Amino acid sequence: MFDKLLKTALESDITPEIALQILQESKEQKNALKLFESSSRLRDEKIGKDLWLSSGISGVIPCKVVPKCTYCTYFTTESFQIDKLSLCVKEIEKLGIKHIHLSGGTNIEGYDKEIISMIESIRKVSDIDIEINLGPSFSEETVKIFRDLDVKSITSSLEIFNEDLFKKAKPGDSLDDIPLWHLAGGGNQVLGCMVSRRPAKNKLDGETIQVSDDLYIINRISILENYIKDMDRRLILN
Ligand code: SF4
Repeated sequence: MFDKLLKTALESDITPEIALQILQESKEQKNALKLFESSSRLRDEKIGKDLWLSSGISGVIPCKVVPKCTYCTYFTTESFQIDKLSLCVKEIEKLGIKHIHLSGGTNIEGYDKEIISMIESIRKVSDIDIEINLGPSFSEETVKIFRDLDVKSITSSLEIFNEDLFKKAKPGDSLDDIPLWHLAGGGNQVLGCMVSRRPAKNKLDGETIQVSDDLYIINRISILENYIKDMDRRLILN
């Protein structure tokens, strides 16, 4: 039955009903593995096997969601200092990485002005590709300004679409007024390095590059290379 569903989804137009049925039946581990195998094959066919490197800078701005989401590990109460952000971007470029993504906190009333100013500051020192993962609340006008600042993409992570589950996991957030949610996307992006306020605990986490007294870049490129070496894939710079 599950095989037939997958075949229908892959070979004809997938309907919301079929997608939901696939999702529900994927609770069974053996079906989940079949779903992952099909999804992986589809991705390889449509966008290729190369994985391209990005760098993550999270907690760039305070999160105003109260109470916190139940699964949160990103919450911060301080904005990333702009001069330190620029330092990190330059270090990331030295590793050959040409893409960064900036992510939360969240302000459901919008962080448009603050993020525009952050991007303008980065643009003074670098033309690195930028993805912004704080998407849902941005206004259309702000998105146009981002385009003019050569921002490559805006991610709107809803995390949960089911209203009841959303309320339980994200009691301080809102599913309303998220005009850009439908623009959320993804691809073959992997995290080659990330900016952290702590050094890596050990070599298995990555190589630590100290940027300032309280900022570190954790370079994971060699770990990723080792991980994918038998997977018939390449790591590329975007
Ligand atoms: S929106 Fe939720 S997950 Fe994101 S930083 Fe705030 S509390 Fe954490």
